[in-house]
Amino acid sequence: MSEAHPANPSTFDPAVGVRVGHGYDLHRLEPLAPKGAGRALVVGGVRLDSDCGPVAHSDGDALLHAITDAILGALSMPDIGQLFPDTDPRHAGEDSSVYVVEAARRAKELGWRIGNLDATVILERPKIGPHKMAMRERIARMLGVDVGSVNVKGKTHEGVGALGEGRAIEVHVVAMLVRA
Ligand SMILES: [Zn+2]
Repeated sequence: MSEAHPANPSTFDPAVGVRVGHGYDLHRLEPLAPKGAGRALVVGGVRLDSDCGPVAHSDGDALLHAITDAILGALSMPDIGQLFPDTDPRHAGEDSSVYVVEAARRAKELGWRIGNLDATVILERPKIGPHKMAMRERIARMLGVDVGSVNVKGKTHEGVGALGEGRAIEVHVVAMLVRA
């Protein structure tokens, strides 16, 4: 992307060698089309077997969206919704790995690399435990880092509220950037 960089690196304190970012995302889950408006459930680039999936303009990968926002946040840049508007037909059904790759590219361009990131995925079902390593590997590859720099944890919502009823997926991510 060639537009002027919205973040101003000169405002970054040169004495600070790390920057922390937080990312959050939530998608409503509905039965898969044609019963509902749900897309196939993809989390961290891994397709999960589920009769429900996210309602989204892109592929609805909440984990990749939250990772993108954590990295952009660490750079004090506009968030994913501003950089990749869901009103733009080019992003319809898009593989969300492009957002993660672009965020990592922008970090590198500003002289930062991914130190590590830690994610918590709140999903009532299916359990993500068996897929965590595959997610970590996919994400690490997108970011160009070692798999040890990427962590994914799964939680349920104990049956409470919309998350607990399986009507949404929620993700929290913190990312640490270090000077390249
Ligand atoms: Zn999202």
